[in-house]
Amino acid sequence: MKSMIKTALLPILILVAACGGSPDTTTGGGINVVATTNIVADLVRTVGGPEVTVEALMGPGIDPHLYKASAGDVRRMSSAEAIFYSGIHLEGKMSEVLEKMGERGVRTVAVGECVPEENLISSAEFSGLHDPHVWFDVGLWSQSVGCVAEMLAALDPDHAGEYLQRATDYADELNALDAWIQERVQVLAPDQRILVTAHDAFGYFGRAYGFEVRGLLGVSTASEAGTSDVQVLAEFIVEHEVPAIFVETSVPPRYVQALQEAVRARGFAVEIGGSLYSDSLGNPGTSAATYPGTVRENVETIVTALASAAVAD
Ligand SMILES: [Zn+2]
Repeated sequence: MKSMIKTALLPILILVAACGGSPDTTTGGGINVVATTNIVADLVRTVGGPEVTVEALMGPGIDPHLYKASAGDVRRMSSAEAIFYSGIHLEGKMSEVLEKMGERGVRTVAVGECVPEENLISSAEFSGLHDPHVWFDVGLWSQSVGCVAEMLAALDPDHAGEYLQRATDYADELNALDAWIQERVQVLAPDQRILVTAHDAFGYFGRAYGFEVRGLLGVSTASEAGTSDVQVLAEFIVEHEVPAIFVETSVPPRYVQALQEAVRARGFAVEIGGSLYSDSLGNPGTSAATYPGTVRENVETIVTALASAAVAD
């Protein structure tokens, strides 16, 4: 289900904001909303501030492709004032329950579907579908921020001004982060920018920051890697002398370990360059607990592993 509120409504929102100016100070948690992934929850919390209580269904390390809603989740979603989810079939096992919630009158927003459709990458595996991992292009993800502000403003017009202001500030922060990545990856020569990960989550990252990307499991983790997938990717790594490959926090490491063994069996010593946050944020209280934090950590992990290995050559 697509967001009903589009950027065309922004002028109305600005008008509401200008006329609002409610003097009350909310000490937290005015509106109760549910988010599916913790990446989406972080976005809604940032825009919602103290006026919104956000409950994330999926904690750190949970794979959204495989996640099924529990009875408790259904209760939480039923009583929420809105449900924010990533969309573009990321929550592949939740589409039915999300649809039902919409039919019951709970407002739902797929924040990933707020970015212009022409900027989405087509999925090689599923014809007619798109790659859901839009947050890996930070500039593109910044375009979903306005959608969140619009939904929150529609639910709580008294605080429309605050939501809009936070959305504007956050979009600026994300655009600065995008510029930082563009600069940071310059440490790597273009031919060093080959990113091999557990599943094909980094397509948007590759397009935005100039990396060739390969994932062992495809765009969804729902399909297991076959022996031939491992062999083909192992050949690719040897041929391109890729020095490091990466595990992901929300995918079991055994897939990438099997790939490493297959490469080593061919006489090439590929390293595991670290663990990337792909479809989930890190633990609360760590620097990877927020979306910008995971982006910075991922970029440092990738750059460090691919650059240091090049020095060792
Ligand atoms: Zn994924």
